[in-house]
Amino acid sequence: MKRFPPKWKALKDAAVGRLINKRSGRLAEHYLCADCGDFFIARDVQVDHIEPVVSPKEGFQDWWTYMNRLYCEADNLQVLCNLVTNKRQRKNVKRGRRNERQANEGNASR
Ligand SMILES: [Zn+2]
Repeated sequence: MKRFPPKWKALKDAAVGRLINKRSGRLAEHYLCADCGDFFIARDVQVDHIEPVVSPKEGFQDWWTYMNRLYCEADNLQVLCNLVTNKRQRKNVKRGRRNERQANEGNASR
């Protein structure tokens, strides 16, 4: 997690302030989903690459390109709620974009 500061910057940029979490009834920091425009708590959002780490058109090129995109600046990142993220991942699998999905999963598990 510490290896990826732009991610936290992107998250901070999307923060809208402390609101009452509808589920727990407690005050919590909420974040704006770039896709549906709703507010969510940190647990319900993901930081997503606007430009995919592995381009679906070009495929995997080389490690330099891969790392460059993976550790991109915050302006290539957007905050999305889990609903949107799940929908996109399902779409990606259908299109055969497994490389990108695996890259994202590998990133999240570390
Ligand atoms: Zn959303």
